Amino acid sequence: MSKVIKINNALTVGELAEELMLPVTKVITELMKNGVMATVNEKIDFDTAQIIVGELDLDVELAKRESSAEVPDRVKPELSKQARSRPPVIAFMGHVDHGKTSLLDAIRGAETTEAEAGGITQHISAYQITHKDRLITLLDTPGHEAFAALRQHGAHLTDVAVIVVAADDGVKPQTIEAIRFAKQAGVKIVVAANKIDKTGGDINRLKQQLAENELAPEGWGGETVVVPVSAKTKEGLDELLDMILLVADIEELKADYEVPARGLIIESHMEQGRGPMGIALVEQGLLRTGDYVVAGATYGKVRSLQTSSGEPMKEAGPSTPACISGLKSLPQFGDEFEVTGDEKIARAKAAEASRSVDRGASVMSGKDLIKVIDRAQELNELNIIVKADVQGSLTSVVDSLKTLDNEKVAVRIVGSGVGVITESDIHMAATSGAIIYGFSVELPTSIKRLANRDDIPVRLFTIIYELIDDVKAELTKLLPPEVIEKELGELVVKGVFKIAKNEVICGGEVIKGKLSLPALARVKRGDKVLAQEVEIINLKQGPQEVKEVDRGTMCGLSFHSSARVPVAEGDHLEVFTRETKILTL
Ligand code: GDP
Repeated sequence: MSKVIKINNALTVGELAEELMLPVTKVITELMKNGVMATVNEKIDFDTAQIIVGELDLDVELAKRESSAEVPDRVKPELSKQARSRPPVIAFMGHVDHGKTSLLDAIRGAETTEAEAGGITQHISAYQITHKDRLITLLDTPGHEAFAALRQHGAHLTDVAVIVVAADDGVKPQTIEAIRFAKQAGVKIVVAANKIDKTGGDINRLKQQLAENELAPEGWGGETVVVPVSAKTKEGLDELLDMILLVADIEELKADYEVPARGLIIESHMEQGRGPMGIALVEQGLLRTGDYVVAGATYGKVRSLQTSSGEPMKEAGPSTPACISGLKSLPQFGDEFEVTGDEKIARAKAAEASRSVDRGASVMSGKDLIKVIDRAQELNELNIIVKADVQGSLTSVVDSLKTLDNEKVAVRIVGSGVGVITESDIHMAATSGAIIYGFSVELPTSIKRLANRDDIPVRLFTIIYELIDDVKAELTKLLPPEVIEKELGELVVKGVFKIAKNEVICGGEVIKGKLSLPALARVKRGDKVLAQEVEIINLKQGPQEVKEVDRGTMCGLSFHSSARVPVAEGDHLEVFTRETKILTL
């Protein structure tokens, strides 16, 4: 059995070497072989560390050490005697095309929704409807990934999962996955047998399939409620909502209202003129405007609270989705938020969170650190929305776009449709950071104004290959540049004049190639690397600063380093530059 070493989510090269009981140079060399240029104090992430361990062929396995900031299974808050009932939170899951979106739309349309009052049709991640005078919170197609992330963050925010299955298609792989997710999360399940208006639907066959997948329906030896519905004809929607409430009521859902508000961030986006917006789902307490909140690594004073359809709210209680403005930066999906007594506490908590949690982006992103490791999971995606005049051209545009994907970049079509570009396209582009492509369609003046206001790129074409070329050009911008190291020359140190913490001044003879600026260098003593990378900041011949020094010539130079480098006579400086090459598709 191989030895298991627990490491943090991100650690420095030096720390990794120490854990592995290897010389730092060995780890650095291996990183370089894999295209990662990192010095001893630079951080690498867990995946990179794992690859390196694999390459080194050690009998060692790496495991993630749980950071103190991660609370894998946050228990539900203890309820006090004052706890009152709260609306249930419902998520819709199921196989693609079985009708999740249509059902959510049908429910929103059928019931009094806030959206109708505001008249805004915006893509939102959660909203509330009223059914028989009771509020129900619907999470808009969280998708399995998002649902899993919610679970991972220990949120028990979903009370009931509605598993949508098309009656004519039956249980499919993603249905089974959805069942598994819901069961693991320990939430109640209601099955919506959708598309019953279509011929070929067979509820009995569906019930049998459900029974085979550990979801035995009522009358089949189990108690899973199966409601036949049609998003198209709206048949059965009432019963579905009745059943959702009934199943939720078994749990006696309650929350405390008189405690500091807390909950989870379920979406975030930038909004023109308003800055970072976080959509929060309140778990307990009443969130009010003017409250100081911390949300993951960001914080702020709640400037405004809005319902998901843009209506202002004074406060948001348990199970209520609320759009918060006033945060200093974008919170992340799955971040917990809580109200703090004052700004100082909020700021301190946010700072602590950003220190203790590896927030991804900060790792390996130093100015002089270039990460070129080639891994599929680092795929860069270009979000786009496509609108076309007719279905035929839409299909050909979408199909051609799909052929542009490669292992580094991919097109992600977040929305597509036939017809003019609408306000909701603009909203969707704003939320997803997408470019809107129109093929033989109009851009009405009012929408154009909206796009300009919100800085949404809208591009219109009438020739397919021109549109494709434009997408190609955008994808090219996402390609990570290839970094090439070019050897310049080598210097042997003949004298050292100053060694400071981050700077060395020394002199020596160029024994190979030609030195010129700008340049980087590796400092070596024999085979041992003293510094993986330093930056040469000047070259001198006598008192004169020079741009170049030829082979066989003596020169002086100074370099900057991230840590002290104990250079001595006889050490070698391997001098190189790094060039980035822009790749094309
Ligand atoms: P999702 O991928 O699960 O969100 O599925 P959609 O809501 O996008 O629906 C997929 C397709 O099924 C669309 O073409 C819908 O119009 C269609 N559809 C959804 N619900 C029904 C229904 O109750 N009856 C019929 N006939 N078609 C439906």
